Amino acid sequence: MCEFCLKHGEGQKWYLHAKNYSEDLLSDVRRRRFIEAFSDPETIARAAARSARHVNRLNKAPRLIKDMISRLVTRRMKKVHFGQVVPLEEIEQIFGFTSSITRIACTCRHATLGKEMRYCYGISRSPDGGKLAELFHGVDKTFDAGPNVSQLERLTKEEALAAFRTHEHEGLCHTVWTFYTPFIGGICNCDRSDCLAMRSTVTHAVPVMFRAEYVANIVPEACTGCRECMRLCQFGAITFSPSNKKAVIDQRWCYGCGICRSVCKKDAIHLEDRAKSQIAATLW
Ligand code: SF4
Ligand code: SF4
Repeated sequence: MCEFCLKHGEGQKWYLHAKNYSEDLLSDVRRRRFIEAFSDPETIARAAARSARHVNRLNKAPRLIKDMISRLVTRRMKKVHFGQVVPLEEIEQIFGFTSSITRIACTCRHATLGKEMRYCYGISRSPDGGKLAELFHGVDKTFDAGPNVSQLERLTKEEALAAFRTHEHEGLCHTVWTFYTPFIGGICNCDRSDCLAMRSTVTHAVPVMFRAEYVANIVPEACTGCRECMRLCQFGAITFSPSNKKAVIDQRWCYGCGICRSVCKKDAIHLEDRAKSQIAATLW
């Protein structure tokens, strides 16, 4: 289990622990302010530009300095806004105990592509189901009667799950996110080319998200070597063996997203507990 499961999971996976979505945590004023600031695309665009400048400088720094700063950034992000890859079957479990799902614009894509693209989902367990959604949308302070929530896109659990299945076929990686850990307020569908967190973690080796609690494996007897799975893996974990004419997963690079399974017509790919992997059990 990852560090957050041990700290915030009380014996189970932390993102399946309903307490981490609770209204009690959401009532924290500092957290609410953070969520409001986070939902402002201009703020995120400025933060993204700042972080791109830092990363450029960091990449030119000596290895020792880079490692030290990377560790400091990761430590800070673990407290504030940290994510984890979660496979589709567990997203379904999360939808089972949340009371409200709201589709919102992805702040990363707004910052990197300059477009509103609705790939993020605000999730809440609050009894009225709307507090988090209001915060994500931003509070219209000019409206005395309360926040303007007219543009929120509420989804039923079935609609949200159908949308996630589509995202899965598009090759997008599902991730849960904290807003001051351990509160989980959002699930996104990430793409390495536009997700600031994936870029930071995978491209620049400054981790701001954990890998999943799983790793993928291929049953060689079932694999026909069509290579479709290679096309979808965003982490470069799948290679093709020309001699065997089969795909092979290097679990050291696998983030356990399970996306490769969605295109395998032979059902040759399975997720296994990361803890049982000889080479990936301690890789997060
Ligand atoms: S998609 Fe399935 S059958 Fe095709 S190469 Fe990958 S594991 Fe093998
Ligand atoms: S090999 Fe691992 S990282 Fe790549 S798509 Fe499959 S589960 Fe995700």
